[in-house]
Amino acid sequence: MVLSYYEGNEKYMEDKANFIRNIKKTWIYLKDCKANLIGYASVSIIEAIISAILPLISANVILNITNGIIKQLILSAIAVLVIEFVLYIIYYFKGFLYQKIYQKTLVNLQVAVARETLKLEIREIDKVSSGVFIDRLNKDTQDISAMFMEYTYWTSYVISNIGVLVAILILNKYLFIYAVITSICIFVINKKRLSKQYAIQENVKKIQEKKTGLTGELVRGIRDIKVLNASHSILKQTTSKIVEASNEEIRMLNIQRIYNYLENNVRMICDFVFIIFGCLLYDKNLLTIPTFVIIYNYQTEIKNLLLGVVQLLEYNKKFVVASNRIYEVIDDKKFKKEKFGLVSIKNLSGSIKFKHVKFGYHEDNNVIDGMDFEIQPNEKVAFVGKSGAGKTTIFSLITRLYSINDGEILLDGYNINDLDGDSIRNNMSIITQNPYIFNFSIKDNLLLAKEDATMEDIRNACKIACIDDFIMSLKNQYETIIGENGVILSGGQKQRLAIARALLMKTEIILFDEATSALDNETQSEIQRAIENLKGEYTILIVAHRLSTVVDSDKIFVVNDGKVISSGSHKNLLKKCKFYKNLYEKDLSI
Ligand code: ADP
Repeated sequence: MVLSYYEGNEKYMEDKANFIRNIKKTWIYLKDCKANLIGYASVSIIEAIISAILPLISANVILNITNGIIKQLILSAIAVLVIEFVLYIIYYFKGFLYQKIYQKTLVNLQVAVARETLKLEIREIDKVSSGVFIDRLNKDTQDISAMFMEYTYWTSYVISNIGVLVAILILNKYLFIYAVITSICIFVINKKRLSKQYAIQENVKKIQEKKTGLTGELVRGIRDIKVLNASHSILKQTTSKIVEASNEEIRMLNIQRIYNYLENNVRMICDFVFIIFGCLLYDKNLLTIPTFVIIYNYQTEIKNLLLGVVQLLEYNKKFVVASNRIYEVIDDKKFKKEKFGLVSIKNLSGSIKFKHVKFGYHEDNNVIDGMDFEIQPNEKVAFVGKSGAGKTTIFSLITRLYSINDGEILLDGYNINDLDGDSIRNNMSIITQNPYIFNFSIKDNLLLAKEDATMEDIRNACKIACIDDFIMSLKNQYETIIGENGVILSGGQKQRLAIARALLMKTEIILFDEATSALDNETQSEIQRAIENLKGEYTILIVAHRLSTVVDSDKIFVVNDGKVISSGSHKNLLKKCKFYKNLYEKDLSI
């Protein structure tokens, strides 16, 4: 019991510290809507005051009717009309300001989360499902954007209710005590509900992000799912995640429903007690009819006196959960960001050296295990070896998608860890096995590589990459939209488009990861022709999954067990490296 008190207390202190820290951080994203926020707070306070006065005047209307004072009645009715008119104008402006603040904050936050997601280390993305980032970008930012409005609204609500409480105290001290007791009852019920819901809120979000990740994969992987005839098994897994998420939501809603039922009953009993208590007070001359009517008109406000406080507490907790989640992405704590050096080199000449490099995706397993090799500028080299030997991983290290555990990678003699991001990434382009093509037009996909490229630059690059003829044969030519991940293109066409993208970037180093899937001979030779067009002008590194395509390379590195076991020209290797000879003979027999 004592332990749980301390644990609870520690959690409370931690949440409080997180709340204050995250509010300060979030304030930055609201900077450009300060004036709107002040406007919103001001109209909210006016609304709160009017809401407190309105029941008083309404009570007057009832009293005037009962007493038959027609002139007073008309005046009170006009007052009600005017006040309600003002109230609706306020609602209109509040809605307008709310929209502005919400949208601006949402845009600022979502852009920040998107920007920071792009800076994450690939290792972090490998570890978790994509839903972790998608949900934080879409849902948690919405929660936070709504938060400041809610604070303003409920703070003004609390202020107006304090006004009501003071009014009741002035009118009748016995009913004041009743009001306090009633509102405490409603407060306790809501507080209890809140703590129960909060306990599962974080879990709900975790389950939901797994569901988002899986449903995303279901859509993106639909082709493979169909061909593998894996619909049944994927649907089974997706159903289990959907049901799991739904069960958690049901738990939340059950808590809500049970406590709503409890609260409604308490409210009903309070109404009954109010009338009986009022009668008793009247009987003992402790309450007059007009006072009773006025306080009766405040019934709802009385019961909701502390509800604003509950709502504020609820939003505090919601804010802590949502903001913790987005700052895990924005800050560099839970999910690590890429870190680069400070040396800036505009144009690398293209020499690459691996000095006893060690790297593993997991701590206990080195995929690259003491690798050494050297490539001169403008050389065309190839990496060959069995599947899974670590050839593609070499490219991920040269492009610094991952940082090495030991040894050194030198680009133009500079340690890769000392170079800044632009020096590395602006000087190399990579054509992967299955290049990602965005659901834009062909032209826009190419412009990603060079924003200011002219149509002439684009077509020249595509001609060298042997894809221009194909594009010009399409109805909308370069304006053709190529579907998500370039669905309308074949594997070979995607690779040639990626080559054109690389050419537009005009990088000195071009990394080419040959498609493992056997492309038809014609496509294969088109790609060969595209690479041949680049020879001599660029440093070209090819991961060869088919040896026959790289026999003309200046140098071939034979990779096995995370090391380069031999290197040389094709002829040279056939003579001196049995491992290579075996690989080559096997390749010929396919
Ligand atoms: P290759 O290109 O020679 O076929 P890779 O470099 O792709 O081989 O892979 C080398 C090894 O690293 C393989 O055992 C593969 O399973 C593993 N591997 C590749 N990528 C990852 C990753 N993102 N996370 C964990 N292991 C990986």
